[in-house]
Amino acid sequence: MSTEFSDKGIRTRAIHAGESHADGSHSSAPDLVMSSTFRVDREISFSANNLDTDAPYVYTRWANPTTDQLEEKLAVLEGAEACIAFASGMAATTGVLLGLLSKGDHLVMSETNYPGTAEIARHTLPRFAIDLTPVDPSNPANVRNALRDNTRMIWIETPSNPLLNIADIAAIANIAREAGALLVVDSTFATPIATRPLELGADLVVHSLTKYIGGHGDAMGGSVCGSRKLLDPLRTEALSHYGGVISPFNAWLIMRGTATLPIRMREHAANAMAVAEFLENDPRVANVIYPGLSSHPQHELAARQMDNFSGMVSFRVADGKTAASRMMAEFEVIHYAVSLGHHRSLMYLLQTEDLAETSYGLAGEALARYRAAAGEGLFRFSVGLEDPDDICADLDRVL
Ligand code: PLP
Repeated sequence: MSTEFSDKGIRTRAIHAGESHADGSHSSAPDLVMSSTFRVDREISFSANNLDTDAPYVYTRWANPTTDQLEEKLAVLEGAEACIAFASGMAATTGVLLGLLSKGDHLVMSETNYPGTAEIARHTLPRFAIDLTPVDPSNPANVRNALRDNTRMIWIETPSNPLLNIADIAAIANIAREAGALLVVDSTFATPIATRPLELGADLVVHSLTKYIGGHGDAMGGSVCGSRKLLDPLRTEALSHYGGVISPFNAWLIMRGTATLPIRMREHAANAMAVAEFLENDPRVANVIYPGLSSHPQHELAARQMDNFSGMVSFRVADGKTAASRMMAEFEVIHYAVSLGHHRSLMYLLQTEDLAETSYGLAGEALARYRAAAGEGLFRFSVGLEDPDDICADLDRVL
């Protein structure tokens, strides 16, 4: 665990941890170093493989002083020894999957999660002879039953995209430990303000920094937090060699966003609860999913595992496609757009045929489970920081 500011409250840590300032500038804001290369004053290896962890800066694909600050801040917030920042959440995901799995390994993954993650596990990994078993991790016994002798990794997303299912991280961490497998948690929807998976026994935490952590819809990034033992080799292979390196400018923007994460998450959750209650009381709405509602099937687990229910609400109406057309034309405040976690409210219809059948390849009982919650399509609503009355008025007009 990084010690910088680790004895301070989470709001203080979010603001100050990791930040450093240019020598002699007396700046209060952290340094932005937009340099791809660095002047070197001693003999240094030309291979990222041979770099010591305390090597000076050589080339930004290996390390950069601004990116280092973001990594330190995120490690402090997650309670991790180390963190690697990437160009996007998908670069972080691919880095972990390809960097830690090898031919002949078996992966257990939530049957529904971010479609990019699902697609790489279903379409790319088999080309490298890595086998996948998709499971519904809302019952940890399903994870245990999927284990094989060669299971090397369990990957869960909680709350999951887009059904907002909650997986019990501590229970699944015990299963992973007994099996000698790594537990990776994509915690993008939760953020470290709601849940810190490493404290619950996970080995690695993945984030799309493009979402809540950056928070303003202006910069893409991803991260992986965990132990030095796991991350040091990944830094060389998954960052330097695969090359999904974050721009220092984006690292700087995301660091600025992170400073207000605790305050933003509090307001995202309050707005999401107001919107979820509004939708639940509206007869035009067939189903509302929000972990903070007592009607969520895993509300108790969510209350135990999350310090904040986050800002994601999913719901469906009888004719989603018609409602989506009205939203595109008539929304005043909400943007009809993909992505999530920004200060602006974002809404998108995820059609079941696209997602459950194409991206996840669900069939039989798994498809029936998905359809029971999502019907023909689910609106994924990232509730922003506007006035809740204005958000609800926008919904009221178009539904
Ligand atoms: N993980 C989750 C849960 C996501 O929602 C997303 C993107 O929506 C990603 C990963 C991928 O992140 P990025 O778009 O930054 O590559």
